[in-house]
Amino acid sequence: MIIVAGAAPRVEKHLLKTEKHCFHCNNTSRWVLQKTRHFITLFFLPVAPYKTDYLMYCPICGNTIKLNKEDYEQKIRFEAEST
Ligand SMILES: [Zn+2]
Repeated sequence: MIIVAGAAPRVEKHLLKTEKHCFHCNNTSRWVLQKTRHFITLFFLPVAPYKTDYLMYCPICGNTIKLNKEDYEQKIRFEAEST
């Protein structure tokens, strides 16, 4: 019997409603909030998450800021409330 195991990320993206200035490319735009959940897969099906990354990046130059879970959730809540 052959067991196919691996790892796969699942990406969730949210575009910020408020604009943010990027000090790297000097543009002001709506940054992207991204949550990446890394899963262990078995026969290409995700079975268990083992790591989650939270980050925010400039859509123009890709300048990335790492966030912790609390900051990420706070920003998601803020975005949901400002609709
Ligand atoms: Zn930028």
